[in-house]
Amino acid sequence: MTSSIFTLSRIPFGLGSQKELYQRDQVPEEFKELFILRGYRSPRSSPRQCFYSIFNATNETFNFWTHFLPALYFLWRLVDMWPEMDFFGPDGRFTQPVLALMVNVILFLFMSAIAHTFNAMSDKARHVCFFLDYLAVSLYCIGAAASYKSYCIPHGLVHSSVMTLYIPVAMINSTFSVMLACQTRFMDHGIRKKLIRFVSFSWPFVWDQIPLFQRLLSCETAQCQGGGASFLWKQNIFATLSAFLYTSHMPERFSPGSFDIIGHSHQLFHIFSVLGTYAQLEGVLLDLQVNREAMMAQGGLNYDQVDNYALVRVAAVTTINAIVVIYFSLRIYRTPSPPPCTNPASVANGYIHKDGVRPISGIPQSESLLLSKPNVNASRRTSKKVE
Ligand SMILES: [Zn+2]
Repeated sequence: MTSSIFTLSRIPFGLGSQKELYQRDQVPEEFKELFILRGYRSPRSSPRQCFYSIFNATNETFNFWTHFLPALYFLWRLVDMWPEMDFFGPDGRFTQPVLALMVNVILFLFMSAIAHTFNAMSDKARHVCFFLDYLAVSLYCIGAAASYKSYCIPHGLVHSSVMTLYIPVAMINSTFSVMLACQTRFMDHGIRKKLIRFVSFSWPFVWDQIPLFQRLLSCETAQCQGGGASFLWKQNIFATLSAFLYTSHMPERFSPGSFDIIGHSHQLFHIFSVLGTYAQLEGVLLDLQVNREAMMAQGGLNYDQVDNYALVRVAAVTTINAIVVIYFSLRIYRTPSPPPCTNPASVANGYIHKDGVRPISGIPQSESLLLSKPNVNASRRTSKKVE
């Protein structure tokens, strides 16, 4: 009976150590993804199993690669542009905002790849992985705001009252974003949780874009319509598409089970967000180049519009947001674990939630016993069963 329950879906072309995967009704609620029916890793995977799973066909594999490979690309771009940009040379103040943007882009892509790789180690590790992911995403909007202010906004807006608030509000948004996103991991599944998390990511992005909307929609000057304008349009189109995919869960919504490994909405969300980031970077670099050439033609670089403290701001917000993430991580690890399971009648315990314990529906009884004991032996026994 038990062995038949433990029949796991086998994905034949796995290269790593975790070749046998779980179906949706075999993993705890917290690990389930909407409309994804198979390809789940063991919720008690070891770090080694998690690492090798990136070479297997799991429902997380392409989530990893769709951010890891672009991270390498942007890292290469940064190394390639370093000599020309001379970030810490005499004119470094002029180019440092784009360095802040690139570092944050690379960081959020790498952090996302890491979170998608190691989130199957335990329920608590899953939360912490995504806290770190949210941290990196929250920092990204600071680098973007610094770059927009320095190179992309219409010259007529530079000394407006909105622009005096622009960067400080972007910094507050960043911390607000990571706090709200982390808090959603303590909420019950549902539309409210999804909506709040969406707002936590989208509002900082929208705030960053406000002066760009002014430029793209209502400014007719050569500066506004030239330079990186077409790339900044594309960025907003890709961002809208990625937001749509994130919230709609399409295409898997229409055919649950058909896109479990390749083609589900989170992978497409990753791809479109990378395309948006690429367009954003190209737009910012083009604007930087146009501004620099115009200034040099007039006698030299002008730092009037440049955010001179971009790197300092990023460092300050990183520190504050890291403290927020440490707070939420401690909160997760202080949440009482389910009691050791000695009575088969109480095996419907399982994993950590804000209330301490939540039932695991659909988990075979013996597997629930393993999941309920967060100790080394339990992990080994679970791993053995999966390998
Ligand atoms: Zn992701």
